[in-house]
Amino acid sequence: MTRITVAKGDGIGPEIMVATLAILKAAGAQLEIDEIEVGEKVYLSGNTSGISNESWDVIRRNKIFLKAPITTPQGGGYKSLNVTTRKFLGLYANVRPCKSLHPFVETKHPVMDVVIVRENEEDLYAGIEHQQTDEVVQCLKLISRPGCEKIIRYAFEYTKQQNRKKVTCFTKDNIMKQTDGLFHQVFNEIAAEYPEIENEHWIIDIGAAKMADTPEAFDVIVMPNLYGDILSDVAAQITGSVGLAGSANIGEECSMFEAIHGSAPRRAGQNLANPSGLLQGAILMLNHIGQTDVAEKVQNAWLKTLEDGVHTYDIFKEGSSKEKVGTKEFAEAVIARLGQKPVTLQPVSYAGSEALQLPKYKRKPAANKSLIGVDVFVHWQGENPNELAEQIKQLEKENLVLKMITNRGIKVWPDGFKETFCTDHWRCRFHAKDGGEINKNAIPAILHEANGLAIDTIKTENLYAFDGKPSFSLGQGQ
Ligand code: NAD
Repeated sequence: MTRITVAKGDGIGPEIMVATLAILKAAGAQLEIDEIEVGEKVYLSGNTSGISNESWDVIRRNKIFLKAPITTPQGGGYKSLNVTTRKFLGLYANVRPCKSLHPFVETKHPVMDVVIVRENEEDLYAGIEHQQTDEVVQCLKLISRPGCEKIIRYAFEYTKQQNRKKVTCFTKDNIMKQTDGLFHQVFNEIAAEYPEIENEHWIIDIGAAKMADTPEAFDVIVMPNLYGDILSDVAAQITGSVGLAGSANIGEECSMFEAIHGSAPRRAGQNLANPSGLLQGAILMLNHIGQTDVAEKVQNAWLKTLEDGVHTYDIFKEGSSKEKVGTKEFAEAVIARLGQKPVTLQPVSYAGSEALQLPKYKRKPAANKSLIGVDVFVHWQGENPNELAEQIKQLEKENLVLKMITNRGIKVWPDGFKETFCTDHWRCRFHAKDGGEINKNAIPAILHEANGLAIDTIKTENLYAFDGKPSFSLGQGQ
């Protein structure tokens, strides 16, 4: 018996949750349920996060959370409950199966069966942004080794549990050699631990094009947050059935399962809504907690129901559909088919596999880190980089020399092109003259002297070598 937290949400939420829970119960799911209130009512009572402290306690105690969609009230000040939950509970993995149901749901990709595994916490979504000059703002892209290891291991463990065959990694590490480079490197390391699972890496641009054109070439795809955010929507959309998809948000301790659609307020209270998205979320939950035999039974009955043409209004099509039903009747139709398997659609088989075994992250011994230079970023309104170099050279120290100036990453000094467009945001790179280590005290000294010379420094980045390997990108053209 697993104790779970359930929130019925807003709009169509309560109806689809009742339908989903009825199906799970009839299928023999071993669940004990604690219900909490989240969403619109809580927001409108003056709680800007949409959830009370008592509800947090229940979620954290039970660890497994099945959530119906909620309505975020119009107007500012209300924080997205999904983002808050994801961040507070450390839900690092977002898992979204995207499968075509051809010929029962129209799609250009009849044999598509792809699972997108998206890193959920870091990358450009760490939310660290700054304006630095009149013309330039920046967003910090943070990729961590634990973040990569956790999501990539999750992808392989999920693949194994689901009897899937291949994990593909998408990155742009030909450009972002440090950040996406780390993701790719960790992918290679972890893939080697799963010799029975095929693995491959694609550069995201051509990979995304291939996925949109030939999704049957992929099985499980793992990627950093931003790419995953975009491509999980593309993948769901091209199955032809975005309204039928569920997703899982997995953390080390807690997880949340839901439909990907919203609360569809205009359809609420009319017994019209399709409960399939939430049911798919619930099936991910059953698999996660190891009740895989129940998950399989429910999924096969659901496929058989769709195949028999028993459809809610959103997927009903004159001709191919047989019976237009409401939320409640759809659930009853699924329940009536428990134990049956689809004939045209491929039946699923996950029975026998166990709950995912995800080891805790273990920190590696620290590398030998040496400081070999510094990038000093400067706000400067001039145009000729040679003039800036003359000013910056005044900051050189005995063993610290100006090596290069870049603008938006492109080398403009020495030997820049006059055609290169320059903003007011300049990076001035200092290295040890002898190619070795520098003294860290030199950095505040540079900043102090720059201040005296009215050079407007905006930030510095230390240039490190880890175990002797320079670990920063070169300037384009350096
Ligand atoms: P929506 O997904 O609620 O609706 C989009 C369209 O799909 C509508 O035409 C709707 O009628 C239809 N639809 C959605 N789910 C359906 C179902 N199960 N059966 C039949 N038809 C369905 O998106 P929206 O209209 O942009 O948002 C409505 C509300 O939902 C907003 O308050 C939004 O903030 C919220 N929302 C919540 C979540 C969540 O809780 N995870 C996600 C997205 C949107």
